[in-house]
Amino acid sequence: MSDLPRSFVTVGAGQAAVAAVRLLRRRGFDGRVTVLSDENHAPYQRPPLSKEYLRGDTEPEDVTLLDEAWCTENAVELRLGVRAESVAEGRVRLTDGCEVESDAVLLATGVRARRLPGVEGERVVHLRTLDDAARLRDMLPAAERIAVVGGGLIGSEVAASARALGIAVTTLEAGALPLISQLGFEMAEFYAGLHREYGVDLRCGQEIGTVTETASGVLVQTADGDVEADLVVVAVGAVPNDEIARASGLEVDPVRGGIVVDDSCRTALPGVFAAGDVASRAVGDGFVRVEHVDNATTQGTAVAKALIGKPGGPAEDVPWYWSDQYEFGLQFLGRPRPDAEIVVRGSMAGRNFIAFYLSGGRVHASFAVDRGGDVPAAKQLIALGLAVPAAALADEATDLFDLLDTVSA
Ligand SMILES: Cc1cc2nc3c(=O)[nH]c(=O)nc-3n(C[C@H](O)[C@H](O)[C@H](O)COP(=O)(O)OP(=O)(O)OC[C@H]3O[C@@H](n4cnc5c(N)ncnc54)[C@H](O)[C@@H]3O)c2cc1C
Repeated sequence: MSDLPRSFVTVGAGQAAVAAVRLLRRRGFDGRVTVLSDENHAPYQRPPLSKEYLRGDTEPEDVTLLDEAWCTENAVELRLGVRAESVAEGRVRLTDGCEVESDAVLLATGVRARRLPGVEGERVVHLRTLDDAARLRDMLPAAERIAVVGGGLIGSEVAASARALGIAVTTLEAGALPLISQLGFEMAEFYAGLHREYGVDLRCGQEIGTVTETASGVLVQTADGDVEADLVVVAVGAVPNDEIARASGLEVDPVRGGIVVDDSCRTALPGVFAAGDVASRAVGDGFVRVEHVDNATTQGTAVAKALIGKPGGPAEDVPWYWSDQYEFGLQFLGRPRPDAEIVVRGSMAGRNFIAFYLSGGRVHASFAVDRGGDVPAAKQLIALGLAVPAAALADEATDLFDLLDTVSA
């Protein structure tokens, strides 16, 4: 017991940090716990920011992850508006010169929205924080048309929310189709069709040029001409907040950024962990970094377990994330490969189906549209990695759990 840490500090107060802190207290850890955040809001969930919060269906208090009352009850010191710059020998140094001593440190600093050079201004919005979302939400009622740069998940969710508010949307996507690398051609085409059906003017293969603010709006230059809008939302990916690791001599992924960790989320510095969007897990010759809630929660939980002497690491789980667009619940599982055979169960036309991605007869990924009921079985099929008859997958008369039993017998 004496080797276990007696104090714990998190740098960042998002999903990963909160998962760690909650589990520690639930499991009876009675040492000092400090949560540092460079934001001025109590920890909150980001997924609603592009969905129900943006549409005005929820308020900031509805998206809270950890409130002050819980922190007081659980003796967690929540320090808002403080920025950590480095960590060494059990001390986290803050930019104001103060230090926080701790036996164990979790770097859970997340990512920030990627900026395009020269694309800034009063009518340019990026979406990562509650403040960003509040600003966009305040601007939307006066907007008749918006441009969205980037057809990834956040851009798509903003487009869907804006359409729900009756705003005209032009989405400019650099790729041949939105999400083509995640979904493959057939499903990306379905996805593009969904947005077009709901009125989005989706233009693919569009690298944007300059963005110029005018007296009444903004002009986005593309190879096919200017797009006029009242405001532009730039949603072109994210950059890991790994500066604290660089300043502390920790390894970062030289290509995509992110703090390098092992399977247990440990960095090379004893007692220093990293988890969530900022953590790059070393796998083979490369690194895997995942920017979704499920991963952040799993990794934060794994760190807490390691701290109380119950390590196990985040076992190689099936990646899972969701997105809500229009009235549809979309879920993504696994990592689709480009050569996959796609087997569809349900109706694509009826927007109620699950697509299985198979390689060598084995399911390695899935994309579900309003098919939450099939997702648990799909997750197990992917995790098992066993050969499954395609016809049985497609046949709605086949119970997927029975199929699981049959193939695993
Ligand atoms: C608009 C939006 C919609 C999303 N929708 C979905 C969804 O539908 N499904 C899904 O699975 N995922 C979604 N995500 C992604 C999900 O929110 C992230 O995967 C998750 O928040 C990651 O948690 P985290 O703890 O790693 O980092 P974060 O939640 O980003 O928290 C990191 C915190 O650390 C702070 N910080 C950074 N540097 C420092 C420092 N030096 N000192 C102190 N504090 C610091 C940051 O300001 C931030 O508050 C969405 C994200 C956004 C932005």
